[in-house]
Amino acid sequence: MRPFGYLTPRDPAAAIAAVTGRPGATFVAGGTNLVDLMKLGVAAPDLLVDVTGLLPDQIEPTAAGGLRIGAGVRNSDLAADPRVRAAYPVLARAVLAGASGQLRNMATVGGNLLQRTRCLYFQDVTKPCNKRDPGSGCPARAGDHRNLAILGGSPHCVATHPSDMAVALAALDAVVHVEGSAGPRVIPLGGLYRLPGDEPDRETTLERGDLITAVELPPLGCARNSAYRKVRDRASYAFAVVSVAAALDVTDDRVRDVRLAIGAVAPVPWRARTAERVLAGRLATAQWFGRAADAELAAAAPLPDNAFKLTLARNVIVRMLCELARTEPAGAAPAGAGS
Ligand SMILES: Cc1cc2nc3c(=O)[nH]c(=O)nc-3n(C[C@H](O)[C@H](O)[C@H](O)COP(=O)(O)OP(=O)(O)OC[C@H]3O[C@@H](n4cnc5c(N)ncnc54)[C@H](O)[C@@H]3O)c2cc1C
Ligand code: SF4
Repeated sequence: MRPFGYLTPRDPAAAIAAVTGRPGATFVAGGTNLVDLMKLGVAAPDLLVDVTGLLPDQIEPTAAGGLRIGAGVRNSDLAADPRVRAAYPVLARAVLAGASGQLRNMATVGGNLLQRTRCLYFQDVTKPCNKRDPGSGCPARAGDHRNLAILGGSPHCVATHPSDMAVALAALDAVVHVEGSAGPRVIPLGGLYRLPGDEPDRETTLERGDLITAVELPPLGCARNSAYRKVRDRASYAFAVVSVAAALDVTDDRVRDVRLAIGAVAPVPWRARTAERVLAGRLATAQWFGRAADAELAAAAPLPDNAFKLTLARNVIVRMLCELARTEPAGAAPAGAGS
């Protein structure tokens, strides 16, 4: 590992100045992703700016009736918070589905949002990778891509975003509070991440020195009836193969409100807005849930070894929405009956 300096600034402004003014400097929070990448040689900062003592570490109600979660809140504290569990169960479940108890005790909300992809080639410095080394190529397309993207990828990169928490936050319309050298700003979660296009090395809309200070959840009635389902290769301590975050409000058998996001299928947490539009006002039936999933997944461009994610994602979406609607998943055939 390359030698590096370590700084504990006195306040967020000093931390931001330290990173803004030095290209090799980077923030460190729990260190559970960054230090791993340093050991692998994927990241080689010359200065770590520790923000753990500077970031808000409380969860507070907002005047609007939502919650403001400090970026320094540990993942385990977020998942255990009674207000989160009652009003946004999808978020608590998504966080608990990630990593291990020990890791969640260290990992912060800010760091979780900015963790890097687990694409095997990205993590192996002996291999080319456009994300790590722009212009070097993407061996995943012709190589190991079973766990990679079916939506939103580009010829230059088909990596997936690894965070479970971010999938729930995408479904919940969360916004991210950021402080930078130009002052504070608020970014919708969907606007934080960039699709790879021809610049897969640029993953977010953040500028050098931008510090995430908090995540805010709006009040959302349907979130009380919400859930997170993660399909993975083993029961714990594994990243998702496909995951779904869903919240549903059914009144008089019809969909009054629905929020849906899919994880591990795209380079960003994938908000399923097409499916949500299909479902608005429709009968809450397995047929309509299936049609909505089909409409969302129509844009998919799978590779040979990850085409199975199409069926998997459809099945998980239909099953979850049926559970939230307390209806039977049987007969989820595309098109036909019901309106
Ligand atoms: C074995 C293992 C299994 C895992 N499994 C899962 C899983 O199944 N699901 C899942 O979602 N996650 C999983 N994780 C990832 C884990 O959740 C992340 O490593 C963790 O959330 C990152 O948080 P951190 O505070 O440790 O971030 P750090 O490692 O400290 O930082 C990560 C990145 O964020 C930047 N950063 C940190 N805080 C801020 C901030 N406030 N503002 C701006 N930039 C910031 C850092 O500069 C760095 O680039 C796993 C990790 C490991 C090691
Ligand atoms: S999919 Fe992206 S991260 Fe993986 S090898 Fe290709 S360019 Fe690198």
